[in-house]
Amino acid sequence: MRRVTKEITLGNLKIGGKNPITVQSMTNTDTRDVESTLAQIKRLEEVGCEIIRVAVVDEEAARCIKRIKDAIKIPLIADIHFDYRLAILSMENGADGIRINPGNIGSEDKVRKVIDAAKIHSVAIRIGVNSGSLEKGFREKYGVCAKAMVESALKYMRFFEKERFYNMKFSLKGSDVVTTIEAYREFSTISDYPLHLGVTEAGTLFSGTVKSAVGIGALLAEGIGDTIRVSLTADPVEEVKVGFEILKALGLRDRGAEIISCPTCGRCEIDLMDLVSKVENELAKLDKKVTVAVMGCVVNGPGEAREADYGIAGGRGVGIIFKKGRVLKKVKEEELLEEFLKIIKEEIN
Ligand code: SF4
Repeated sequence: MRRVTKEITLGNLKIGGKNPITVQSMTNTDTRDVESTLAQIKRLEEVGCEIIRVAVVDEEAARCIKRIKDAIKIPLIADIHFDYRLAILSMENGADGIRINPGNIGSEDKVRKVIDAAKIHSVAIRIGVNSGSLEKGFREKYGVCAKAMVESALKYMRFFEKERFYNMKFSLKGSDVVTTIEAYREFSTISDYPLHLGVTEAGTLFSGTVKSAVGIGALLAEGIGDTIRVSLTADPVEEVKVGFEILKALGLRDRGAEIISCPTCGRCEIDLMDLVSKVENELAKLDKKVTVAVMGCVVNGPGEAREADYGIAGGRGVGIIFKKGRVLKKVKEEELLEEFLKIIKEEIN
């Protein structure tokens, strides 16, 4: 059961409540280079990215938000560190949301100015607590641990509520997966604000995908989480793809075909790795729920993939295309992929 959270508004998107769990990414271009940033956001939109965050390093970057916002469809979040004036300038230039760690913004007065601007511009605020940048008081009292992160987030929550600001969500990212899970779990028993899930500095495409799938996946499986970001040292397009795979694996979102493929064995008669990745890429943008099996041999493939809506099995020179385990067609190996994609696209459109 998904935990019920408050519904908040981020641009044209509703977050929390019964709204779908959304996939977010962050550009790794220089925000001041508007052309490159826009080109990256366009690629991210194409693979389904639903919220984009950009780093705001100075006033020029904050002013560039206006031109970026005018050219994109998805809500934009300005990522702010230390300087409250950049938060305000980003909002004045059209940011739909800002992400801050109030602990590094400075005095309560500065945070209050950010809150006032957010009210004026109807902007959502993500309060991001990171184990690496905990306020000194919490660090000294509890050490760097989940408890310290939760107490820190609660302190900000109470302060924002005292200022009558409620359009906010929280993230509590620890330095490792276990601490992160503990922190979110604990916080979600006390607060019903939406939660943004992520494992900070997760790593490369390979290790980061595993860590994020474990951390984000464990929380989602418990019903915790309203938006997610998979942090990877890779093309952000990969972050979005992995994000959707995690949600698809838990039956929380549908996007692109659900691909199943056999692990291959001595009976495999084709280059299955190449075939699977081509099928996956071609069907990544399908918005219908469809399961597609890509199997290594005609002997066991159709039987093992009986539950799939469509399937393909390689053979020596000749492959077969099947639907719900029933053979539709035998096709020459070199024409197999093209014919298979044609059939799927014709049938589901
Ligand atoms: Fe082996 Fe064929 Fe099963 Fe793939 S489908 S694992 S190749 S028996």
